[in-house]
Order: sequence, then structure tokens, then C-alpha cells
Amino acid sequence: MPIFDSHLHLARLPQPLKLAAELHRRGYRYTAVACEPWEWEALDRIWAEASGAGWLDGCGRAYGIHPMIASEFAEAANPNFEKKLAELRRLLESDPNAQVGEAGLDKRYAGYEPGGAQEDVFRRQAEMALELGRDLQIHCVGDYGRIIRVLREAGFGVKRPHPIFHRFGGDAGIVKAGLSLGALFSIHADTLRKKATREALALIPRANLLFETDADETFIETLVATRGPKDDVTPQEVAVMLEETLKEVSSRFSPARE
Ligand SMILES: [Zn+2]
Repeated sequence: MPIFDSHLHLARLPQPLKLAAELHRRGYRYTAVACEPWEWEALDRIWAEASGAGWLDGCGRAYGIHPMIASEFAEAANPNFEKKLAELRRLLESDPNAQVGEAGLDKRYAGYEPGGAQEDVFRRQAEMALELGRDLQIHCVGDYGRIIRVLREAGFGVKRPHPIFHRFGGDAGIVKAGLSLGALFSIHADTLRKKATREALALIPRANLLFETDADETFIETLVATRGPKDDVTPQEVAVMLEETLKEVSSRFSPARE
């Protein structure tokens, strides 16, 4: 059975409609993630066209507010925040299978401090995920402990919906805490770079594991760097690189447990 790519930014890749058709043809299935308003709109449009043609059968989507833009939304003085949350809710309600996210914390961006804008925006999305019964795609660069605390406070438990730790980079303590909240852990090539994370993966049952490419603009830059900028990249080239990347991640990780 082909593996599923649990996190890919379809709207950030070139010729996304043609790419969706090509991926469908190859049996490549994925969750398309949109993490800021322009990307929500783009994905919504792509979805409407591509799903009509059947190109998204077996795929899913996610809408959320990434921590990189959280602070510009959450300023108390910004009336836009509630408007954007309402828009997010409308998109989620338009697809009962859509997930929330990616949402979370990232120490490289403004509003990261405890109790800051990022935490506020993350908490609101965690609450929305619970209320609508949707899995939550979580982005974390920095404080995994704080993510766990917010999830607990919001009411996540072992039952559905699940927190999904996208591009997981935590240690054994976070795996244990996450499992107690019913979490899934999505493995990216970067996940395997850190020793503490690699070792922690042994604690995750197969049923709680996912694999991902997190493909976006930088994925295409890498593709261009490896084959040279001779022409524009084609959907076929992107599809092949996605397949190779995902296969590489899942083959380097070979769990023997159930
Ligand atoms: Zn992402």
C-alpha cells in the first residue's frame, strides 16, 4: 500500500492543479495544509476544481493560522483577528473532514513568549478543533512542554480528535505526554536528525505514526538546486521528488512493533 503524506502545502507548489492530477494518477495521497489566509483561499479554489475531477480522492485538507503570522493577528487592537477566526471556522465547516492547523509555537517568530500572541492563537485553534471534532496539526519549534499544557487545558484526551505533531522533533517525555492525549506523530526527514527524537520514536506504536514531506516553496528550491534551473519544474518532476522523499523517510524508519 502506498504511504500517505500527512503534511504537504499543495497551494505553495507550482501548477498545483496539474500536480494534483499527476499525484492522483500515481496513487500519491496526502493532506494539503493551508496555514495563512492567502493559502486558505488558494487551497479552497484548487480543492473545488480538483475534487470535481476526482483528483483529491483519498486526500484531505487542513486550515489554520501558523505561529509565524500569529502576532499580526492577535494584537488586541486588531479587529481582524475575530474576523479571520470566523472565516477559518466557515472553511472548516464547509468540509467535515478538514483538520485544523497548522497551529502552534515557533521561537523564531514574534509573540512566542509564554502567554503571548502565539499561545493565544494556538489555544483558540485547539478549542475550535475540539469543538468541531477535528484533528489538529501542530507546528512546534521550541517549547513542546507548553504545547502539551495548552492541549491539556483545552481538553484534549485519549479519544478523538487527535493532536498531530507535524514534523515531530520532541523527546521521549513529549512522546509519552502526547500519547496520553491520543497524539499522532508525523515523521519528516528532519525528525531523524536529532538523536533524542530518533530514540523517542521507539516508544511510538505504529498506529500513531505518520510520514510527511512538508513540501512547500523550499522543496522546489531544493529540486531546482539538484537538477539545475534549466526550465520551470514540471508537475511530473515534483511528483517524483515527493515520492522519493516520502519513501526515503519511511524506509529509514522501520518499526518492528505494533
Ligand atoms: Zn507545514
